Amino acid sequence: MKTIVLKFGGTSVGSIDRIKKVTKIILSYKKNNRVVVISSAMSGITNELIKKSRMISNNFNGAEYDALISTGEQAACALIAGSLNHYGFKARSWMSWQVPILTDGPYSNSRINKIFTKNLNLYLKSGGIPIVTGFQGINDNLRLTTLGRGGSDASAIMIAKFFKADECIIYTDVDGVYTTDPRLHKKAKKIKQIQYDEMLEMASLGSKVMQPSSVQDAKLNNININVKSSFQNKSGTLITKNFKKKEFSNQIITGISSTKNDAKITIAGVKDKPGVAALIFEPLSKNLINVDMVVQNISPDSKETDLTFTIKSEDVKKTEKIIKGNKRISYRKLSFDKNLAKISIIGVGMITTPG
Ligand code: ASP
Ligand code: MG
Repeated sequence: MKTIVLKFGGTSVGSIDRIKKVTKIILSYKKNNRVVVISSAMSGITNELIKKSRMISNNFNGAEYDALISTGEQAACALIAGSLNHYGFKARSWMSWQVPILTDGPYSNSRINKIFTKNLNLYLKSGGIPIVTGFQGINDNLRLTTLGRGGSDASAIMIAKFFKADECIIYTDVDGVYTTDPRLHKKAKKIKQIQYDEMLEMASLGSKVMQPSSVQDAKLNNININVKSSFQNKSGTLITKNFKKKEFSNQIITGISSTKNDAKITIAGVKDKPGVAALIFEPLSKNLINVDMVVQNISPDSKETDLTFTIKSEDVKKTEKIIKGNKRISYRKLSFDKNLAKISIIGVGMITTPG
């Protein structure tokens, strides 16, 4: 008997009708396999909860924030389990603390470090279908934590790891990973197989199909991921380690992705000496601001230089405050450009291909 992990994203469980469809998909695997289901919240719910927290405070308590925004998953899992029960099948919802799923790291950006298998294994043995909340875990203080937006992908991959699953299928609203965004370009093609490194780049550089850190988890633990649509029964994309590309033997580029929410920051006239970049970036990293591209010009007089870098546009205000408050650096001018888009061309073949 195989162990199969099925993960459903927000749109796949976005309405009661969709949840009924998902019930059928789960049952189609149940006949011959041990099935563990992970669900995200119904689409839009997590955003609504975040909005509510902001209406209370821009500085909402971290632990309460995670306790709040992880509730959508509880509702979705109970609905799926209830639907399976309705059709006469043994199923129940499992909150992260009931499994339990342990995490490390700060609130709203934690990573799973251990999943206890005993309770779920007993339940599986009794013939039940566990429906586990994605996106959440508990920390050492037994408080609820969340795994970053899109984090139920990471839950599925770590469940696949700890349960030594034979398959991990991510059900979403697109039928796989495309060479570029099919809504922006009609010629986009579905990729049948993609390597972890390329998928990691696609995901970090704008393709919204999977949470980037979850792809990293999959790579580190060698978990094959199948991305499929819960709307159409079609073959999807397999994310896996190195493979011989029979399809396109001389393929250099795998995909093109883009982001619209980047911002560029230039600090003009900083001292041109070793260690300056660290003085600038350290406080940003402590505040969980992700710096993407960095350009530092050669200084004509070896005294001063300009440093330009990009961040997510939602981090601009925070970044400005941190740099202005940084007593350890001096500069002439600080400027921001929020109207920035980034286009990335991705393919491991480029490493060995001049031009
Ligand atoms: N519901 C969470 C979010 O919207 C987690 C997920 O969708 O994977 O980010
Ligand atoms: Mg998602």
